[in-house]
Amino acid sequence: MRLLIVEDEQGMAEGLRALLEKQGYVTDLAFDGDSGLDNGLTGLYDLIILDIMLPKRDGLSVLEELRRGGIETPVMMLTARSSVTDRIQGLDHGADDYLTKPFDTGEFLARVRALTRRNGMPLEDDPSFGDIRLDRRKLELCRGSERLRLGPKEFQVMECLLMNKNQIVPRSLLCEKVWGLLSEAEYNNVEVYISFLRKKLRALHSNVQILSIRNAGYHLEVQP
Ligand code: CA
Repeated sequence: MRLLIVEDEQGMAEGLRALLEKQGYVTDLAFDGDSGLDNGLTGLYDLIILDIMLPKRDGLSVLEELRRGGIETPVMMLTARSSVTDRIQGLDHGADDYLTKPFDTGEFLARVRALTRRNGMPLEDDPSFGDIRLDRRKLELCRGSERLRLGPKEFQVMECLLMNKNQIVPRSLLCEKVWGLLSEAEYNNVEVYISFLRKKLRALHSNVQILSIRNAGYHLEVQP
């Protein structure tokens, strides 16, 4: 899953990024309101973590513009201020959750999990298909009691396929979700990671296969 962090305090932003990436999320950072808004308007993200006090454009205005632009991505607002008026204002502007700094990292991650589940995703912590399951906390691919550790990119690719199971996942979507809009990643990268995942599925003796559909993308299929 891809998350956007809009936060001007660099230490805080980097800290949140490290915390989230350890849990297998991919993150992009924006350090002011304008670039946060530009990023958010791409519609690429599964969650936006948005500070209120930001240079160029404050968080409430970013949120307002995102919602006006039809972006329904869940938004968690962060603020150093804890007054009730701020909280109400944030929720009035369409925020989905609100956290006052400083906060406990465990609580932060629990809320991130809750918000990313709400985004039209299946209500399962560990997505599964056929005889396999993806352990999101340990970044492992599991079949029964057998487990294989996935690298961060492998995990992201597999997660994207599992969350869009029963449909063809375009290569361009995988590229954007895993490598980002402005990345130099070529479609070849995707193919490489798909082949790593196929090897791991075989190693687990799984009945799941990743099929390539020419000029379209990939999809998961259970082999009889
Ligand atoms: Ca700030």
